[in-house]
Amino acid sequence: MNFDALFTTQLNALKEEGNYRIFAELERQCGAFPKARCHDDQSPDEVTVWCSNDYLGMGQHPKVRQAMKDAIDACGTGAGGTRNISGTNHEHLLLERELADLHGKEAALLFTSGYVSNWASLSTLGARLPNAVILSDSLNHASMIEGMRHARCPKVIWNHNDPDDLDRKLAALPANMTKIVAFESVYSMDGDIAPIKEIVEVAEKHGAMTYLDEVHAVGLYGPRGGGVAEREGLMDRITLIEGTLGKAYGCMGGYVTGSAALCDFIRSFASGFIFTTALPPAVAAAARTSIAHLKTSDIERMQHRRQVAKLRAMLDRNGIPHLENPSHIIPVMIKDPVKCRMLADILMQDWGIYVQPINYPTVPKGTERLRFTPSPLHGDAEIEHLVEALSVLWKQCAIAHAVA
Ligand SMILES: *Cc1c(COP(=O)(O)O)cnc(C)c1O
Repeated sequence: MNFDALFTTQLNALKEEGNYRIFAELERQCGAFPKARCHDDQSPDEVTVWCSNDYLGMGQHPKVRQAMKDAIDACGTGAGGTRNISGTNHEHLLLERELADLHGKEAALLFTSGYVSNWASLSTLGARLPNAVILSDSLNHASMIEGMRHARCPKVIWNHNDPDDLDRKLAALPANMTKIVAFESVYSMDGDIAPIKEIVEVAEKHGAMTYLDEVHAVGLYGPRGGGVAEREGLMDRITLIEGTLGKAYGCMGGYVTGSAALCDFIRSFASGFIFTTALPPAVAAAARTSIAHLKTSDIERMQHRRQVAKLRAMLDRNGIPHLENPSHIIPVMIKDPVKCRMLADILMQDWGIYVQPINYPTVPKGTERLRFTPSPLHGDAEIEHLVEALSVLWKQCAIAHAVA
């Protein structure tokens, strides 16, 4: 039996569609972010990374690095076990306290990633709560979708960012169901932001609990980096806030925060929490340092906003269409998977600009894009270089300038 033939048939189909993923082989340069060494044969040795989720460059922050090094010297590398069997380190509890405080909640629970935190928490809530139903925004992240699938409870999809549709769908459900409204604050592909207040009001009206993914907002929004719900004074009205330590905080790991009973419930029943080795104490220490720093320092957030605004304004001036949105994410729509990959290849090879093409299934077919995420460490010269490259390519490729 030739199993490889089974694999390659499907891989070839993916390649023909232009949706085959090619990873850039990078070597991040500590102290030089967003520059990175590139090990691909056809690319320059040094590239500027324009699509990192290390939104503020905290992954190279001196305090964060020092915290990680100190914790390694103090505790060694791994946690040594699952949380239940010898793996709960003092650092994990310090971090959970920091996270609970960040979101103004009684408790927090750490996971090995944001993906796992969504998967494990939503599946546990949906599977264990009596008569549960999850109402999911139509553009929710894959990790939430997998969690709901695993929950095997009824699922209702409401139109993206549409509280009226949510209201209608909640009203149609029997009163005796336990309703969970799952949504995000910043949607990472379009960069739009949910009307959290309206959604919370609808949920409250129907006695539904709210589950908010703030993965692309923590560290970046709110006076202490607590996310969009913090900025809008809504944290205490949301049942569960989920986030990551791997994006703006520059480390790794995920978490949920909520009441003590809610966190204890997930801690006690979620397979994805229980049966896996705990995060290394050094990762927890670094993440806690990053969170604590961004609770009191606004410099990174201010500079981030300035550079995002600068790139947007320069794209406008040069007639390069990008999705308008109120966040830090700048999607330049290409609307064709092959062109999108080709443009990314030219940017990388000829200009030393690395932006990953975003194709199906990450976004719907026909909405392929280049997604730029300027950081406070992208200098004016780097922004000018990017816009010059895009302007030249725009003319060469004759892609329609007018995009809805
Ligand atoms: C990246 C992402 C996650 C997963 O977080 P990780 O820590 O990277 O696993 C969850 N939700 C959303 C919306 C994301 O974009």
